[in-house]
Amino acid sequence: MRVSGSRGGYGALPSVDRVLNWRAVNDLSSAYGSTATVDAVRTALDDIRKRISAGENSAALCDPNTLTRDVSVLLAARFAPALRPVFNLTGTIIHTNLGRAPLAAEAITDIAAAAATPTNLEFDLASGRRGDRDFHLEDQICRLTGAAAATVVNNNAAAVLLVLNTLARRKEVIVSRGELVEIGGAFRIPDVMQRAGAKLHEVGTTNRTHLKDFATAISGKTALVMKVHTSNYEVRGFTRTVPEPELAKLARDHDRPFVVDLGSGMLVDLEDFGLPHERTARETLADGADLVTFSGDKLLGGPQAGIIAGRADLIAKIKRNPMKRALRLDKLVIAALSATLRLYENPDRLRELVPVLRLLTQPRADIAARAERVRPAVAEALAGMASVDTVPCKSQIGSGALPVDLLPSAALAIRPAGGGKRGGRKVAVLAAAFRALPTPVIGRIADGALLLDLRCLEDELGFLAQLDALDLAGLAAP
Ligand SMILES: *Cc1c(COP(=O)(O)O)cnc(C)c1O
Repeated sequence: MRVSGSRGGYGALPSVDRVLNWRAVNDLSSAYGSTATVDAVRTALDDIRKRISAGENSAALCDPNTLTRDVSVLLAARFAPALRPVFNLTGTIIHTNLGRAPLAAEAITDIAAAAATPTNLEFDLASGRRGDRDFHLEDQICRLTGAAAATVVNNNAAAVLLVLNTLARRKEVIVSRGELVEIGGAFRIPDVMQRAGAKLHEVGTTNRTHLKDFATAISGKTALVMKVHTSNYEVRGFTRTVPEPELAKLARDHDRPFVVDLGSGMLVDLEDFGLPHERTARETLADGADLVTFSGDKLLGGPQAGIIAGRADLIAKIKRNPMKRALRLDKLVIAALSATLRLYENPDRLRELVPVLRLLTQPRADIAARAERVRPAVAEALAGMASVDTVPCKSQIGSGALPVDLLPSAALAIRPAGGGKRGGRKVAVLAAAFRALPTPVIGRIADGALLLDLRCLEDELGFLAQLDALDLAGLAAP
């Protein structure tokens, strides 16, 4: 690009070619390639031109050191991985927007191994023939749930879609009005039902549904009876739901499948870990469900996946649906899910090895002790700008695992000094400053404070090491 040398402040602006010849920029070009470097130089010069026209000092902006740093920052951003690690201090353990379950070390090792070389993904090593990719997981799932057969797809939404499309296309599915759930991010039972080609037949009311509501709804058009876990809400007060064994018997008497969307779908009893009971896939199948569906990356603590387990004839039908091919699992996910399920074969070490269960079962006293350990350094980093207190709080499991706040935890409550009328804005500035750290820290805002729930802070040293980089300039403004 050519720049006329004499127009006002633009005179100091170097040409693209000149910048590319600076030694430091030339080094960047060797590292990142000339295409990206030329782009970055153009972008940096365009930005400077705008700032000069906005009245900034042109000599300072065009200083070679400054300009080279601008180019280097642009290139580093362009070549950074799309997904950046963050500290999840929101208090929601399985946070959908932050990627849900962190994986076990075993799962990560197995992903790396499966990624690097060819594997027996769809190859039967004994016979030398084509194999089935579900085969790797099916035995494990059957052992852990008591199901006769199983298959796995991309996520639980896909599992529900595939079950309905296979078993209920152009037919009716009976669901209680109390269970027409919406899970965040556009998964709504009535919409999925429609896309699957099934017709929703709602029965009962929002708060009460009786067995006779289901019984009178069953007709020649009925494909199946469905129960959906009310993952992210609770109906309290004058309520009634039909126990699963009764629904299962009704469906069986009419020769219709009974399908339960468990949502989170635990494989072990959470009571063993001191948590409220969450019905397991095994219990639901034992109570007479013909199929259950659940997520791989909620309470199970594995990768994103949707597991379908139950009657062999129904699973066989599902596997024959051409949609199955479109929803199938990738080899990396198979590796990670298989590794995670393997950990469930030894429940004694689950708490230690599956990060979700480790985070879920942390005693409040340990979290409070952590809060006391990190509070002084945070207070010092914010000295004069904000107060830092340790406060009790409640973490939640998240992702519609169990709907209510129930895990006693401890947080740092950070309140900007001189909050007053501008308090709300200042807390937002503070939250943004924590998000702007090299490893962004994500908290939540409550009652005029930034709350950092420390339940999920496993890397305390990494957290403390970057506090120096907090940019609090925005807080100082009146
Ligand atoms: C979370 C959830 C889903 C969706 O599962 P994904 O794995 O997120 O696709 C479906 N049904 C219920 C009841 C859920 O809780």
